[in-house]
Amino acid sequence: MLAGLARDISQQVLRTDVAGMPLEWIDYREAVRLYHAEQVAYDCGTRLYSVFGGYSSIDGRRSRIDVNSIIATHGTSKSLSRNRDEYTPPLNNRTLFKRDANLCLYCGMRYMTRDLTRDHITPVSQGGMDAWNNVATACRRCNNYKGGRTPEQAAMELIAVPFTPNYAEYIYLKGRRVLADQMKYLLAHIPRSSPLHARLSGHLANGEEIVEVHFHD
Ligand SMILES: [Zn+2]
Repeated sequence: MLAGLARDISQQVLRTDVAGMPLEWIDYREAVRLYHAEQVAYDCGTRLYSVFGGYSSIDGRRSRIDVNSIIATHGTSKSLSRNRDEYTPPLNNRTLFKRDANLCLYCGMRYMTRDLTRDHITPVSQGGMDAWNNVATACRRCNNYKGGRTPEQAAMELIAVPFTPNYAEYIYLKGRRVLADQMKYLLAHIPRSSPLHARLSGHLANGEEIVEVHFHD
């Protein structure tokens, strides 16, 4: 049974390893399971909600687990920490569009997710890769106009340089709703030179908790 605090139960929890490296988003069930299994080394961020279990037959008291927005857990994936620097996140449209803030990188206009497409900057037909640094968010109109041409061939210009997100950036991009404390936490793992660093700092400065959620289906 759940006791609703300020947050709704759908709010995801940011899971990190014991060293504090961000690992993934988990839902309240997984968070409760980790607390219950004593896998949570420490927690930080803010209290999200409390989950109540059954009454104890010994003292009649009810078990209660308080779930925080960020939890550090034991037993992490060693392969991930070892390969973190070379990690290349999988490419999908949801995270790609979020990388580009739902802007068409050709006309600079912001669109709803359903009106956006994945453009291959160097077209696949000309040997371009389906990889983060060769793809851009594009509206249908710009993508149609560009067709099978490179931006140079089509005399079009990109308004931003496409980049491959690092691990922390990818976690941010995957988050459905990222709270200010979670954003701040992830920001510490994002290079200052990254365009996302500036964007997230801006969101935090404006006191925004919920990011771009209304652009997603
Ligand atoms: Zn466009």
